[in-house]
Amino acid sequence: MPTVAAYAATSATEPLVPITIERRETGPTDVLIAICYAGICHSDIHTVRGEWGAITYPQVVGHEIAGEVIEIGSEVTKFAVGDRVGVGCMVNSCRECENCQAGMENYCLNVCTQTYGSVDRDGTITQGGYATHVVVDQDFVLDIPESLPYDAVAPLLCAGITTYSPLAHWNAGPGKKVAVVGMGGLGHMAVKIAAAMGAEVTVLSQTLSKHEDGLRFGASHYYATSDPATFAELANTFDLIINTVSAPLKLDAYLGLLRLDGTMVNVGAPPEPLPIQVFTLFNNRRSFAGSTIGSIAETQEMLDFCAEHGIVPETEMISAEQINDAYERVLSSDVRYRFVIDVATI
Ligand SMILES: [Zn+2]
Ligand SMILES: [Zn+2]
Repeated sequence: MPTVAAYAATSATEPLVPITIERRETGPTDVLIAICYAGICHSDIHTVRGEWGAITYPQVVGHEIAGEVIEIGSEVTKFAVGDRVGVGCMVNSCRECENCQAGMENYCLNVCTQTYGSVDRDGTITQGGYATHVVVDQDFVLDIPESLPYDAVAPLLCAGITTYSPLAHWNAGPGKKVAVVGMGGLGHMAVKIAAAMGAEVTVLSQTLSKHEDGLRFGASHYYATSDPATFAELANTFDLIINTVSAPLKLDAYLGLLRLDGTMVNVGAPPEPLPIQVFTLFNNRRSFAGSTIGSIAETQEMLDFCAEHGIVPETEMISAEQINDAYERVLSSDVRYRFVIDVATI
């Protein structure tokens, strides 16, 4: 089994440290990827700190992976050595359930195998992208279009698809008013993608501190949610609200901003239940929904869309030894807008 260098959490409370892990041998349908860049997602932090449930340590996280194919299995047809590829939040699924058969493996009824922290088909726990190499089945590998800059593309694999999928599903486009709640890693991608789809985009952020960035990313309007006048002014306005915030919000206040048949979609994941006043849904026949990442086909569609429209995440490159500091900065919203680890430093 190939031994590779990585950065791992060894407990819920200690900093991540350099470690070596075992990857499986490259099987017949597998692709061996030399990882070049790995994005830091808020989910990584929740996971290593045990905030989404107890995990097994050591755990390597990271599910925004950009790298190069350096070896392929004997039955691999989709990729060749030297290809620029990406890996996102999942690396396998059952392939047999109704949802997998429909090409929606992110909603696998037998739970898709996540890139880290999942039980893999060989019984081991999957280890993520803060590592020099990863072995992934070709069906869960994405092709990175040539025109996308390699050093910035990684965050599309989670933040990009997580926002693209609901925007596409709920038909963000010309004539539609879309609000994005929170302009962090996910939110800034939602703004760029929704604007490129042709929607009229409004950012709802706690303060106006990122106002200029929001407009630069393609938003037409930017409001502070700390100002109660915002909720009165924007009542009954939006066709779609993408909520990227993973802290609990007063949902009724936001649902009140939806016009007739409008939908609010949560892609942020607060750990605790959120109360909703059902009467808020009665008014304007509103919907409250959730969405999680996207299928592999849709992820490829998103990458191609971003290449076509020149959409690139805003990133700050760090070395591996800065990961722990970066975590603190993510938690204090001190990042514009996604950290990417230069994996050559691991
Ligand atoms: Zn993520
Ligand atoms: Zn399935």
